[in-house]
Amino acid sequence: MRDLKKRHTPLQRSVVIVVIYLCAGWLWITFSDAVAEAWISDTRMLSRVQTWKGLLFVLVTGGVLFAVLLAQFRKDCNLIKLQQDQREALRQQERQLAVLMGNLPGMAYRCRFDEHWTVLFASEGCQVLTGYAPDELVDNRVASYASLIDPESTDEVSRAVEASVAKDEPFSIEYALRRKDGQTIWVWERGRCIDDDGDLVLEGIVLDISDRKALEEELSELATNDPLTGLNNRREMTHLLEEEVARATRYGREVAFLWIDFDHFKEINDSFGHAAGDAVLRNVSHLLVDGIRTVDSVGRFGGEEFVILLPEMGVEEAREAAERLRQRVHETPIPLDTGETVPLTISIGIAVFPQHGRSPEALCAAADKAMYRAKQFGRNCVVMASAPAEAQNS
Ligand code: GH3
Ligand code: MG
Ligand code: MG
Repeated sequence: MRDLKKRHTPLQRSVVIVVIYLCAGWLWITFSDAVAEAWISDTRMLSRVQTWKGLLFVLVTGGVLFAVLLAQFRKDCNLIKLQQDQREALRQQERQLAVLMGNLPGMAYRCRFDEHWTVLFASEGCQVLTGYAPDELVDNRVASYASLIDPESTDEVSRAVEASVAKDEPFSIEYALRRKDGQTIWVWERGRCIDDDGDLVLEGIVLDISDRKALEEELSELATNDPLTGLNNRREMTHLLEEEVARATRYGREVAFLWIDFDHFKEINDSFGHAAGDAVLRNVSHLLVDGIRTVDSVGRFGGEEFVILLPEMGVEEAREAAERLRQRVHETPIPLDTGETVPLTISIGIAVFPQHGRSPEALCAAADKAMYRAKQFGRNCVVMASAPAEAQNS
């Protein structure tokens, strides 16, 4: 392209060629006439020589014209063929791209990196994925793509995309998307930001992963362990508590339920980071497991709240067991993954079946309430739930 620009225009080139031709003709006529007239004195002979000279000039210039035109026409032919080949290759590429896009199990898109994610192009798969025809999303005609993203995912999606744009790296994100018919689906998106003559544009693909998400959810529902600590998860602990309460009801036995919450745990996260907080959760869970009988069960109910189920244990025994655990945690510096240690205390609420509740829900609520009171008493202590008639604090 730059080479083409450097070349002279067709008019300039034509003028140059004609000027050369005129100069050559003028030089030939002037000098050949002068030479012929100097050499030949016979006028008839001179006239014949000039006729042959004229013929020679016409022949030579005709030959040159023929060679130049032939070269130019050949060049034109090659150029036209090249253009035809390129057009055919382009058509072929477009056909292949259309087939590829048509078969994509989702949609390919190109959109502006603005607050609406203004769609510039969306493949046909857009209709199946979002319920909107590509035309309805292009230039935000009916809806903007950003407005389809589930509000709960919006911030996370924006953060991930902005981070990848800042690092000039591709991004992969998963988020919930609201379809035109109101249905919510889960999608996986992989894209990249490119600079299109000063405008930031996102290009990528979006695939429907709702089936995979449903399967993941099913699996996690089937799972009984908390992934961070390996202890029983909330679902499993609730199930065990239900079983134990049913057994205790049938055989007229007692069951103790401890509700444990770490004191000022947020400060550990704030001072040492979330990963250190996770290490503390893991290490304290080991301490709790080591401090109970084999028939007891420990579980993580969520966050930094743990519960312990102590079958066939009455109020006093449960109080002693809880106090032992509280002391054990209080006296043990908790190691972080960095090798440092942090002090930690826990607050424990206790509820015992049947004194403090006759159903799993009532026991949970009573133990939680007792733990809350332990916090009010200044933390690092054990509080027994209040029975309907009497209250016992330690
Ligand atoms: P309090 O003594 O009143 O219990 O104070 P606290 O700071 O422990 O407050 P609270 O129990 O309300 O807060 C629990 C904190 O635990 C908040 C959250 O940052 C942190 N947390 C919850 N889950 C996790 C987790 O899985 N890992 C980490 N590292 N921190 C968590
Ligand atoms: Mg808590
Ligand atoms: Mg806490």
